[in-house]
Order: sequence, then C-alpha cells, then structure tokens
Amino acid sequence: MDKAGYSAFLENWSQILYILTGIGLVASFLILIIHSIKSGTIRDFKAKYDYLQKRESKMLLFSTLSFAAAVFFIINSIQNETVVQSFWWFFIRMFIAICVSTLVGYVGALLLKFYYPGKLQKKLDKWRYIPRISSSGNEMKLLSEAEEDVYLDEGMQAEENIFSVDYDVWVDEVNNEIKIEKYSGFLEVLKCGTCTFQTLKLRHEEILQPATETEDGELLKNYECTYCGSKRVTKHKIGKIVSDMDFKLPVDFILKGERKVKSIMVEILSNKGEKLEYFFQSTEDALKFLQEFEFDKEPA
Ligand SMILES: [Zn+2]
Repeated sequence: MDKAGYSAFLENWSQILYILTGIGLVASFLILIIHSIKSGTIRDFKAKYDYLQKRESKMLLFSTLSFAAAVFFIINSIQNETVVQSFWWFFIRMFIAICVSTLVGYVGALLLKFYYPGKLQKKLDKWRYIPRISSSGNEMKLLSEAEEDVYLDEGMQAEENIFSVDYDVWVDEVNNEIKIEKYSGFLEVLKCGTCTFQTLKLRHEEILQPATETEDGELLKNYECTYCGSKRVTKHKIGKIVSDMDFKLPVDFILKGERKVKSIMVEILSNKGEKLEYFFQSTEDALKFLQEFEFDKEPA
C-alpha cells in the first residue's frame, strides 16, 4: 500500500470507528436507562424485587462491556498523525486499545462481582420490607415468624423450618387480606467474616440427621465466599416431627353406611415438603394403614 492509499484507509477507518464508538456509548447508556425504566414501572414490590435480583447485575455488566467496547473503538481512532508515519503504529495502537479496554471491562466486572452484591442486597431489602398495600388501599403489616405460622400450610412451614426458604406474610388488619411471598436464602448475600465483603453465599444444605418423632434432626448449611473463597459451615436444628401417633379415628363410625361419604382421604406431609395422598373405603382401613405407615417405605 502506498502512502496516499494508507492515508485514505486511515481516514475511512477513523470514520467507521467514530460511529462504532457512538454505538458503544449509546448502547451502554441505553441499557441503563431501559433497565431503570423497566424496574421503575413494576408496581408490585415483590415483582420488582425479583426483577432486580434477576436482572440488575447482568444489565450493569452489559453496560460496562459496551462502554469498554467504546473505549476500544475510540483509542483505535486517535493519533492518526502518528499512525500515518508507519504501518507498525497501526498495530501498536490496536494493541494499546486492547489492553486499555480489557482493563476497563475487567475492573468493571470485578466491582460488579465483589463490591456490588452488598449494594444490591440493600436495595433488595428495601423492596422486601417496604409495607405492602392491600387491594383496598390499606397499609399491610408484616407478621413475625411466630405470628405467620397460622397462615402457612404444613408444607410451607416444613420448608421454612428446614431449608433456607422464607415466607413473608403480609396482613391487612382491616379486611384480613393476606399476601404470602416466598424468598430463597440461596439468592441472598451475607457479609463474609474473613474478607468483610458482602459476598458470602449459601451453596448447599444437607440433612445430617433427619428429625424423628423423638429426636431433633440436624442440618448443615455450607456457605462460600465468592471473593476470598473462605468457607463456613453452620449447623441447624430440625425440630421433631410432630406427629400425633395416638390419633383417634372414629372407627366405630360406620361411614360406609352414610351415603354422603364416598371415601376417606389421608394426606401425609413430610418435613421435606413432600405430600402423599391415600384414599380409603373405611376408617378401619385408614387406621390400619396409618399404623403401618413409614415415610421412606411407601406402600404400594
Ligand atoms: Zn470473603
């Protein structure tokens, strides 16, 4: 390529890169704007919480990467008067652009991974605990763990008692409207005791010893810090299975004689939230079944 040809090429190259820089910058800001409009238009607090938790980190990462791309493009279009001297400068400039834009993208990604989760958690907590408004416009009250059990079915209670699941129960005390929201402990970040970043996450839970009717069970929760990699294991008690083994079924009732009774259903819930249903013709059959029932040996 002769000098004039190279010079013309650089001219075109710069034009294209200016356009690409513009696209990168616009994309970077547009992602942020669209994200904040979208999260702003979600009226329901729980839905907003879910949206932020699922999308916000990703959106910020895309925005950062678009910005890093814009940095790459703009560096490749500067100092044309130097680059026109020698073909080599074209590659040196490209190399510098790769280094700088990678650094920008990398630092951004690091901040998002290690510094940002704590910020996001604060924001999520705000939306989780901000008072809900019932359909009749009243401010609802968040029940305490002790109060909420009345509103949770056995499956939900078992789930809460054992695994890292929280059900928040909101009540409108005027008209008794109830709102139940489910939150998973696996998505939460906690403060790491070693590096003090808010980057400690629950990785998995294992039942060490299942609860029985006479003894408490034990559960291990394994946490890991995504920043410093330190691990933490905590032990938790699983409450005894409350089962009324001296249940009294009305055996002397001749239910079959009552024409309205078609069958008797027995519903059994495990502390893992599993649910089994059985149907019987008579209370006698049901009683016999219950006396022999063991959860792990499910009868055919
Ligand atoms: Zn740590």
